[in-house]
Amino acid sequence: MGVMECDRIGCDSIMCHKISDCHGYICHECFEELKDFMITEIKRSGVIPSITTFMNRDKREIPFMADNFTEGLVENALNKEFRDN
Ligand SMILES: [Zn+2]
Repeated sequence: MGVMECDRIGCDSIMCHKISDCHGYICHECFEELKDFMITEIKRSGVIPSITTFMNRDKREIPFMADNFTEGLVENALNKEFRDN
């Protein structure tokens, strides 16, 4: 098994257990932040944001924070996109 390097910009994690055909590998930390990003954006704009936007947003910036208001919705959407590797 090769190195499973996170494909998010600015992330050097090599312990990725999730992969998407479209977005590549994602580590646990980025996956959790992706959820917060989506929740924040849905609340702000009412539409589901682009995962690509998140993957291209540098990890070293301030992370997204969100409560769990729409967490179930986001979790379902992401479980369709990323499968366990
Ligand atoms: Zn990562």
